[in-house]
Amino acid sequence: MSRELDVGKLRINTVTKMFILMLLYDGAKHGYEIIKRLSEILPFKVNPEQVYPFLHMLHEKGLAKVVKVLERDKKVYELTDEGKESVEMLLERFSNLLEIAISPKVNVCAGCGVKIFGDGYVEVIDGKELHFCCKHCAENYKEMKMKLRKR
Ligand SMILES: [Zn+2]
Repeated sequence: MSRELDVGKLRINTVTKMFILMLLYDGAKHGYEIIKRLSEILPFKVNPEQVYPFLHMLHEKGLAKVVKVLERDKKVYELTDEGKESVEMLLERFSNLLEIAISPKVNVCAGCGVKIFGDGYVEVIDGKELHFCCKHCAENYKEMKMKLRKR
């Protein structure tokens, strides 16, 4: 499985970025506010260098805009319509990934490792119920086990 989520102009490869987007989706915020909120939510320390360049990038790509500049040059960022759309797509992709990860409906073939939607071909081997994508994988699996046992 890919460890990066690509949605339109967005490439999300860290939890921090994901949360920055969620916070911005929730409403306009300035960088320092985001860092403060992140350190409340996340179990690890958030470096400003993970936040400001990302905000800058969102701005450059037209996914966020600066709606206000406060004292000491604090820029308040807000997602543009395109930015909001991207976050929505991202969330949908993310929830699909989660669904696959937690859904009991998805099994992995014990023989070849492909994803099976539903039970697939089930066989009880050594008292354990195993799922396979097809009968052939089950046969191969049993053959392999036999060979290993003979060693
Ligand atoms: Zn298989």
